[in-house]
Amino acid sequence: MLQDLSWDAYVLPAEALLWRADVERASGLPVRLLRDDEMSGAEGEAWSEPGLRAVVLAEALPSDATTMTIVHELGHLKLETEGWPHCYLCHEDPRWIDWHYALISDLVSLIEHQSFFPTMLRMGLDPYAASEADLADPDVLDELRNLAPSLPLPGLKPDWAITMQLLRALLECRPETAEMILRDAAQLGPEVRMARALAAIIHAAPCTPQGFSAAMRACWDAMGFADETLCVGEEEETAEASRLDMSAAGA
Ligand SMILES: [Zn+2]
Repeated sequence: MLQDLSWDAYVLPAEALLWRADVERASGLPVRLLRDDEMSGAEGEAWSEPGLRAVVLAEALPSDATTMTIVHELGHLKLETEGWPHCYLCHEDPRWIDWHYALISDLVSLIEHQSFFPTMLRMGLDPYAASEADLADPDVLDELRNLAPSLPLPGLKPDWAITMQLLRALLECRPETAEMILRDAAQLGPEVRMARALAAIIHAAPCTPQGFSAAMRACWDAMGFADETLCVGEEEETAEASRLDMSAAGA
């Protein structure tokens, strides 16, 4: 269930308040702060839909972790006001869209983080700490290794969930931590090679809307997907249609 929260209950860095003001000015909409008690697998989400801008939290208790989550999600919303395009999957089979939904949202997030995580560091928040803590946990790597033998064609095609974890290590952990994680994952050859290739593309991309679009296209190509299955910066009507497709597939 969704519950409206008051911004007044949370103390945010001054620059984060400017991000919120930018989003409100650009969209003409108040940014709502919501709690979704059914959210799983994330601390927060940024919602941007026709008529709605919202930061959505899994947990409403004011704390340093909650502040971090709010600023993080405001960072995603702020990029849109600077012209960063939405990305969608375009495919005639709604099941294909369903299967690749997590992959594209992970990839978009990881690239977007490149442009606002350094600003969060300057605000005195460390957005990299969460990835360090999550990925340095030996259980995470064991989980990745255990996944590998269950793949339909082990060793041939990279598993995207594993690849995204390794990419997150390369982009959001200290270089020493990332190298340790990739060394430990060495038997996951295709995943390690793909994560390194994607990280190189993303590191080389300028932190601009054009750089983002080009990096998304280049990553999609490197992963071997057909160009027309990735739609960047389409009309909102198209987004609505693909979302409807996805919910129809889920129902
Ligand atoms: Zn994010």
